[in-house]
Amino acid sequence: MTTRIILSHRRLLDKEEGTITKKWGGKIPICLVFPNSYHVGMSNLGFQLLYRHLNSLPEVVCERAFLPERKQWEEYLRSNTPLLSLESCKPLLQFHIVAFSLPFENDFLHLLSILQLAKIPLRSQERDDRIPLIVAGGAAVSLNPEPLAPFVDLFFIGEAEEAWIDFLKAFQGVDRGSKKEFLEEAAKIEGLYVPALYQVTYDQKGFIEAFSPLNKKVPDRVKKRWLKDPNRFPSHSTIITPLTEFKEMFLLEVNRGCPMRCRFCAVRSLYLPFRNRDIDVLIEEADLGLQRGRRIGLIGSALADHPHFTGLCEHIVKKGGKISIASIRADAITPQVAHLLAQSGHRTVAIAPETGSERLRKVVQKGFTEEEILSAVKILVAHGINNLRLYFIIGLPTESWEDIEGIVDLAKRIRHQMLKERRELGEITLSINPFIPKAWTPFQWHPFDEVKRLKEKIKIIKRGLQKIPHLRVLYELPKWGYIQTLLSMGDRRVAQLLLLAHQTKGDWPSAFKNSYINPDFWVYREKKKEETFPWDFIDHGLQKETLWREYIKALNKG
Ligand code: SF4
Repeated sequence: MTTRIILSHRRLLDKEEGTITKKWGGKIPICLVFPNSYHVGMSNLGFQLLYRHLNSLPEVVCERAFLPERKQWEEYLRSNTPLLSLESCKPLLQFHIVAFSLPFENDFLHLLSILQLAKIPLRSQERDDRIPLIVAGGAAVSLNPEPLAPFVDLFFIGEAEEAWIDFLKAFQGVDRGSKKEFLEEAAKIEGLYVPALYQVTYDQKGFIEAFSPLNKKVPDRVKKRWLKDPNRFPSHSTIITPLTEFKEMFLLEVNRGCPMRCRFCAVRSLYLPFRNRDIDVLIEEADLGLQRGRRIGLIGSALADHPHFTGLCEHIVKKGGKISIASIRADAITPQVAHLLAQSGHRTVAIAPETGSERLRKVVQKGFTEEEILSAVKILVAHGINNLRLYFIIGLPTESWEDIEGIVDLAKRIRHQMLKERRELGEITLSINPFIPKAWTPFQWHPFDEVKRLKEKIKIIKRGLQKIPHLRVLYELPKWGYIQTLLSMGDRRVAQLLLLAHQTKGDWPSAFKNSYINPDFWVYREKKKEETFPWDFIDHGLQKETLWREYIKALNKG
């Protein structure tokens, strides 16, 4: 263990307000790991909520670990130190449970890097009873955990607050020496999935033939867990530190899920049913943030769908506080909302037109029109909010070259609308992302657009807008969209590609070259209606048949 690493941990902890430190004696030590930097991990409210939730249980002591930054990583290697937890600087191997939080597929590879740095064997079958149990949860693995199946002992599917309580009860009930026995027990708990207890067989063409439990005691399908009462647990920042995306903001969850049905989006299935938190609870929690003198960051995919959204904002502003929102639906921007945002010093708002044309907006079922977008822009600018971030998706089903030109035209019309309202123009930032097919959405049958074609589309947008002042175009590289699709759509065989990419330090092209597995099978192929998907065994409360009908409806609008 080196002093440099210990000191760097101390520097992070010194800047934190709200760190929980507990004594280990007689408790179950859990290391909660965010497989990305401290900055990214601590900006994630879900990660912070789980940290507080686990530490609120008397039988648990929960510490954190992150993917070390490059310099620190080198220091770990130079000093041959296994990865240490942030709070007590203990090696991960000394914990009973190592729990990964995985909201994004892009972090799958980091999970392997962290296991290696922690000197924990990568594959579950190589780990004996002395090695901590490796568990994982979060949005990405709740949709499709299969590419990580060989590396993780147990997955939490869905919202994990209550599942953790049941899991720990079972964990305490079984002799610590017997991991296998415990996993067999845990697999019976709703929302828990133990991949080693299921077998997948494939036909000659490589399609999944069967996905079946290896013993009769575990269920055929794993039911997603969801929290019936979203007020049951506090849902706000645990730790405040300037070293996050949100700086020293106090984050507050307003609602879970989304009542809209955009066909590309997995939020609906992940957090079904849509739930608002009670206004009394929200006010109580917002007041906690105000007492700490903080700006309140309101979190939720459908903020304005809360019946007391403006009331909550007014309460915060009346008390001398400030509100902040990451993005809001265009059709939810009213003069009252814009006024409250402006009063809070908001100078930038993000909205997501998603597409350049009205036709394609109907295909994806976005639920608002161009007229509503322009009206939202008018209201915002009239209130002095003259910086806009606009999110667009390219490569959507039925998209044509005219739809791409439509993005250029819409951006120009928005700029024109802003100029009409106010002479001095702020910044307009277009954020262009490729469409990634997601499990449990109507577009799960659709392939990823070709990388070459996506590059061409980005070029058209950039060219169309390049000479326009105060307007810039940011975009995600299509090659990363390809990898994300592979990890979103892949089955257990993709684990071999992950392993190769890990061995080549993230060099995916050489991993693909060195494998007999063709990733295009999962990325570029339009799937058949009757195909068995790797994630079909998860019960999200949605019928596959209904999603298929939605998909066909969308294609028919093309
Ligand atoms: S894209 Fe936004 S509005 Fe549409 S379903 Fe997803 S979260 Fe809701």
